[in-house]
Amino acid sequence: MLFMHCTGKGPDILKRLSQKPPVWIRKWFPELIWVIPNHNNDVYLTFDDGPNPEVTPRILDILARYDAMATFFCLGRNVEKYPEIFDRIQREGHVVGNHSYSHPDGWRTGKTKYVEDIERAAKLIPGTLFRPPYGRIRPIQIKALKEKYQIVMWDFMCWDFKKRTTKGDCLKSVKKYCRTGSIVVFHDTNRAQERIISELACIIDWFEKKGFQFKKLIC
Ligand SMILES: [Zn+2]
Repeated sequence: MLFMHCTGKGPDILKRLSQKPPVWIRKWFPELIWVIPNHNNDVYLTFDDGPNPEVTPRILDILARYDAMATFFCLGRNVEKYPEIFDRIQREGHVVGNHSYSHPDGWRTGKTKYVEDIERAAKLIPGTLFRPPYGRIRPIQIKALKEKYQIVMWDFMCWDFKKRTTKGDCLKSVKKYCRTGSIVVFHDTNRAQERIISELACIIDWFEKKGFQFKKLIC
């Protein structure tokens, strides 16, 4: 996989590839989930790397205000640290997915160690949804995981974790790139908080005005 996701580094080409993964990457990895085709104007908001004690509750408050459902790809180590927030996510009707225990880089981690990290998280996070950290996963790891997990990538990511992404950028790119069936990635992390908290309501507002509905991924 060619993505550089959840890191502060990387040239613009990687940003472009990860922001809206091109068709050739999607065709190259057809066993991964990129969009959810539908005829109901459904879109899928997802949040990676939480739960986070400062950011996740604020995101949950915004989602509740709009009655919008979402999917949270959590890290096992954060679920252990903040179990009450993890419970709140589920209590409020959202879906949780596995984003590994310790956020290993699939390019730099051997298959056995990689799978072990995900299995460790699976003891804490119910369901079959898995999103690879950094969007980096190799064919051998896909093969090892695909029977047990639905491996979820994304249709659009606004790079909310980058300081360079300024106020208004997320909404602007959502308007440009999102469509029916889009799986959209945000981050409930301290690094993304400045952008996501200020823009999420505007983004949801825009989707609603366009007639989109927010659905959670099915695990
Ligand atoms: Zn991540």
